[in-house]
Amino acid sequence: YTGKTGSELLTEKIKKFKVHEYQSVPIVVKENVSVYDAITTIFLEDVGTLFVVDDQAHLTGVLSRKDLLRASIGQKDLSAIPVHIIMTRMPNIAVCRKEDPLFEVAEILIDRQIDGVPVVKDKENGLEVVGRITKTTITKAFVELVTDTDQHF
Ligand code: ADP
Repeated sequence: YTGKTGSELLTEKIKKFKVHEYQSVPIVVKENVSVYDAITTIFLEDVGTLFVVDDQAHLTGVLSRKDLLRASIGQKDLSAIPVHIIMTRMPNIAVCRKEDPLFEVAEILIDRQIDGVPVVKDKENGLEVVGRITKTTITKAFVELVTDTDQHF
């Protein structure tokens, strides 16, 4: 018997959740694709956020639904605007790494008021996008805390 309270055990358990156990597949587009194509990709892939990469597949930007909506207002030809004009750019992108605690990513989502972050791997000249963590990811982990009976303390 450890002498720990139920809530201490629960906290310990939550802190052990790692990004790599929960991350999903990232949807990535190149910098020169059009706003039109990015919107199509968001629908086809059923995601809220796209990550933008350069020719070496390094992370350069993020595109949210509202970024695309904002760019679309009053624009006739969305196929003429490349996404690199409207995306949020590096180095202002919040990222996480596979060994990070999921809880820390949840804090980033709250603090920065964003829906998701890319999971990245450090490369010599940049960051490779290997996954994504979103509000949905956090919600799933939250539900799992209650429903995974075999993992209970
Ligand atoms: P939406 O804009 O559709 O509500 P978000 O809340 O995720 O979606 O995005 C808000 C703003 O923050 C957008 O301009 C978006 O480009 C930017 N953003 C989204 N994710 C990140 C991130 N991981 N790091 C930095 N900025 C981000």
